[in-house]
Amino acid sequence: MKTLKDRVIVITGASSGIGEAMAKVYAAQGAKVVLGARSVQKLQLLTGEIRAQGGQAAYCGVDVTKPAECRELIETAVREFGRLDVLICNAGISMRAIFDDVDLDVLHRLMDVNFWGTVNCCKYALPYLQRTKGSIVGISSVAGLHGLPGRTGYSASKYAMTGFLETLRIENLKKGLHVMIACPGFTASNVRFSALTADGSQQGETPRDESKMMTAEQVARIVGRGIVRRKRLCLMEAEGRATHFVKKFAPGFLDRMFYLVMSREPDSPLK
Ligand code: NDP
Repeated sequence: MKTLKDRVIVITGASSGIGEAMAKVYAAQGAKVVLGARSVQKLQLLTGEIRAQGGQAAYCGVDVTKPAECRELIETAVREFGRLDVLICNAGISMRAIFDDVDLDVLHRLMDVNFWGTVNCCKYALPYLQRTKGSIVGISSVAGLHGLPGRTGYSASKYAMTGFLETLRIENLKKGLHVMIACPGFTASNVRFSALTADGSQQGETPRDESKMMTAEQVARIVGRGIVRRKRLCLMEAEGRATHFVKKFAPGFLDRMFYLVMSREPDSPLK
């Protein structure tokens, strides 16, 4: 696969942030995008916008925690465009609370969306992707490279995604399937507003300066290049690369750095 042109790409979590940006960027590059999320109205608007600009898009309302809905998302892609080349498991939620305080239900919800949502979509997409020797992309996080304090359930869900996807890659070694794990750092989006607090309610605000982060469009372009080059791991910015390399040689130092950075957030649960 030299470019994304004409590739049929399913994107979960396409109603906002990184997923929405991937839909726009890849459609503009000539891909046929199939958008999934719970907010059907937003998907409808985005599909209309892409089509108005000459792109090809379809959508399907999906809650990724529900296997039958994930099956319908994949079948929508095959029905509309006849094949499937790329599945991007991007739908995700975050949290902010230390483990001492957090309701266990919060961790279950994180695993349901981030981990099980990925598993559910992969289950139904796999036969089609084996046929096209296509790609599965898991949108993990720097928190999937090293534990992020205040985000036990988030880091755990991203590590679980990695374990699942790496195993899927090896099982399909002889079938030509490409599996990529992408690890963005802080990216301006809705994720911190919707993050769950200790009692499971949404945070409703961001503790960080969103204007100093990568944009969702930058992340979308880097992930797109990673798909074309069939990379295994897609790191984005200095934070991600530093985390990946320092972890190998000085993990204790990285622990202290992560603690320091997260404890400096306003109202940090680490204080
Ligand atoms: P947003 O909150 O902007 O987008 C999250 C998307 O996930 C929305 O489209 C939302 O749609 C969808 N979603 C949430 N729950 C479900 C569900 N049960 N079923 C289907 N879709 C769901 O966040 P981002 O764009 O930032 O997040 C995208 C991915 O990037 C996530 O996996 C996140 O962990 C990861 N990431 C983000 C970083 C950041 O700093 N922004 C950093 C590193 C990784 P809807 O509510 O309509 O269902």
